Amino acid sequence: MSDYSKLRKRMVQRQIADRGVRSEIVLDAMRKVPRERFLPGGDGIFAYDDSPLPIGQGQTISQPYIVAYMVEALDLEGGEKVLEIGTGSGYAAAVLAEIAGEVYTIERIEGLATKASDVLKELGYDNVHVRHSDGTLGWPEQAPFDGIVVTAAAPDLPDALKQQLKIGGHLVIPVGESKWYQALVRVTRVAESEFETEDLLPVRFVPLIGEEGWGSTF
Ligand code: SAH
Repeated sequence: MSDYSKLRKRMVQRQIADRGVRSEIVLDAMRKVPRERFLPGGDGIFAYDDSPLPIGQGQTISQPYIVAYMVEALDLEGGEKVLEIGTGSGYAAAVLAEIAGEVYTIERIEGLATKASDVLKELGYDNVHVRHSDGTLGWPEQAPFDGIVVTAAAPDLPDALKQQLKIGGHLVIPVGESKWYQALVRVTRVAESEFETEDLLPVRFVPLIGEEGWGSTF
């Protein structure tokens, strides 16, 4: 077993399972994805640390526990069509791709989108589709989605994303007026025009910048 796979197993046990993530499909996905491959060259030794890490352009790869928690909150069984906003390094997209049938992911910074797409291809994640655009508007051509996860913080719920959910599907998104902390929220589309909202966890994410997010001067 490589050192990385030992570190990965330990990370999943101590940082994720021991903190209450119970979904076996999520834990299995986290055991499979080589997080070190998604970090800028040289940072591999930190890949299994219990923290977010810089990935360039002022952005971060989320803490492993938060990735697992958000994916668990989507309540997937396997094979679904999922949308992620904020591709970043591509790591969370890979975790989703271990569970979902198809993953559509949008990143507003072109350099990150290209890099993530290259790594995902190298690792054989053919079911991930990366697009460079403003994710606050979703991906209407591919809608509706069984689940939508947003990995950057919005000032409030982007309506376009709610409208691209299937009935019964969940939107998991950090929402808040503050740059320093937000609430992780889960929105469930219970009927065509009926949505239920639950507060899950206090979190801290980089801003979601776009038409239905923060302005570019945030
Ligand atoms: N899921 C990522 C974490 C990325 S951090 C990972 O696993 O590495 C959040 C990302 O959201 C950043 O890369 C940022 O550029 C991106 N982002 C911010 N606003 C966005 C928008 N409107 N559309 C798409 N991506 C956005």
